[in-house]
Amino acid sequence: MTKQRLSFYTQGCRLNQAETAVMEQQFSKQFDAFDQVPFSSPADVVVVNTCTVTENGDADTRRLVNKIVRQNPEAKIALVGCQSQILKEKLLELPNVQWVIGNADKLQTASIISSTYTQTEPVVEVKKLDKAPFTIDTPAIDTHHTRANLKIQDGCDFYCAFCVIPFARGPARSRDFADIIREVRALVDAGHKELVLTGINVGTYSHDGKTITDVVDALTGFPELARLRISSIEPTTIPWDVIDKMKTGTSMCRYLHVPLQSGSDTILKAMNRHYSVAEYTEFISNVFHAVPDIGLGTDVIVGFPGETDALFNETLELLTALPLAYFHVFSYSDRPFARSHKSTEKIAPAVIAKRSEILRQLSIKKRQGFFQKQLGKTVTVLVEQHKNGFWTGLTDHYIRVQFKHDEPCINQMIPVKLTDFSGDKMMGRRV
Ligand code: SF4
Repeated sequence: MTKQRLSFYTQGCRLNQAETAVMEQQFSKQFDAFDQVPFSSPADVVVVNTCTVTENGDADTRRLVNKIVRQNPEAKIALVGCQSQILKEKLLELPNVQWVIGNADKLQTASIISSTYTQTEPVVEVKKLDKAPFTIDTPAIDTHHTRANLKIQDGCDFYCAFCVIPFARGPARSRDFADIIREVRALVDAGHKELVLTGINVGTYSHDGKTITDVVDALTGFPELARLRISSIEPTTIPWDVIDKMKTGTSMCRYLHVPLQSGSDTILKAMNRHYSVAEYTEFISNVFHAVPDIGLGTDVIVGFPGETDALFNETLELLTALPLAYFHVFSYSDRPFARSHKSTEKIAPAVIAKRSEILRQLSIKKRQGFFQKQLGKTVTVLVEQHKNGFWTGLTDHYIRVQFKHDEPCINQMIPVKLTDFSGDKMMGRRV
């Protein structure tokens, strides 16, 4: 077979990014009938790693498939992951879709495509997801980014009322501990200096008696690993031992992204979240005081069914008061499998849009406040890219910094004094 040009497109979360990196490595290491090309180039096969967290994600996939077909009328398309798991019939109606592969077989995508390439009928591999621990045979070496995402967990048993993830990703399950350590060795040997622990609900990691604390202990023991970051972690699942690591100058980044979702106890209860506003506030406040300069972020959903003006104002007041550096604001999205879908108290889209804008503006102010406190400090930047004459990268507390420097310094840790800020980044001077 002549070499087929193959490209990837990743929608959604960091876990999808980690899994795309694994698929890319599998194709390049094991299947030399395919040449990987950038997504914008003509391709014979396009693999789309899909997301179904919001209605927009579903619509985005339809638009994306149509765009791929316009640009590559002969391309065969593989739709893999969350949408394939729960919406396979709808996906099969889209043009040029040759493979629909659910989450159970997502990391077999390379071998499935390779072995069924000449088949004319669409190939559908969507299985029930089970609770068994898992291993991943190929490290997620990321050839596009300096940071690598390390998948340690998948699925969720929490069943928040708005969320379709337990259906799309299946029950909570954890990766074999020794398998994680093997991958870390490979990622570090490939030159990655920062790893991001990734999963759907990473704080529930549990394998052979090992917890997230054991994972963090083991990984902060790797001398070549400059930084270890946790992507997003549920408020009730963060052990204080992990926070302690941030205080003691280990590679553990001074950063936490802890989804709040609502600042109203009434809405939290309706969402089936398992904490109160008081508990969340106490945790964030304790962490803020324990870890100097920690970068704290959150997610908030606006317009959950039943969110009155008064209940929204509780969220607004809480977010104003909490020492957060930023928040991601999500407009409530009605998902067919989620419990809130059946609610009769839906909020009008115009009201949701107005409230979301209020919170987005507040988030901008919070970020400016966080930046203001960092002015004059010297930080270490792990450099990711060079653009428009500036080097940019992240600090451990998740500030994007840009600076000038005469020498190439991608993937290096560079000390920079913070001198100014604008938008979502800070400017600095190499020291
Ligand atoms: S914790 Fe809640 S929001 Fe997060 S994945 Fe699980 S069910 Fe969804």
